[in-house]
Amino acid sequence: MGRREPNQIAVELNCEVTRVYRSISKYKRVKVPVVTARLDIYIDGDQLHDDNVFEADVFYESLVCDGTFPIFNCTCGIFGCGGYEVNVRHEEERVLWDTEGLIFEFERDAMLKFSKELLVRLETLERVLAENGLPPRYDHPTFASKIKRFEERR
Ligand SMILES: [Zn+2]
Repeated sequence: MGRREPNQIAVELNCEVTRVYRSISKYKRVKVPVVTARLDIYIDGDQLHDDNVFEADVFYESLVCDGTFPIFNCTCGIFGCGGYEVNVRHEEERVLWDTEGLIFEFERDAMLKFSKELLVRLETLERVLAENGLPPRYDHPTFASKIKRFEERR
């Protein structure tokens, strides 16, 4: 068969809560919580595009169709500034990623496991946000339905 060894993909959440002063009027300042969170993506133990922001919502889009996706955004939020695209192709048994000339092959089961782990991390982050009185950042039901579609597609 001669297929290459599949790559392994994992995610880590780094979450920090700080309190900063914010002016609510000319004379009054209050301390408000700020939650900074990073999702770090590791492939075979090495961090991928470590200077970029992993866009979970774009990743979940890429889970259900082929295409080129702006998954690794620039930290300033302007993709054209320093973002990296991932060309994603779904095969019967594998999902292929091509980014900046790096080509990775994930077994569908490994990609499924990763997508579920990511959802757990996002739920952790949402819990931290809620505890600090901050609004949610992600659309879980949409992510969960994409995982389900990916799972059922075989
Ligand atoms: Zn930038």
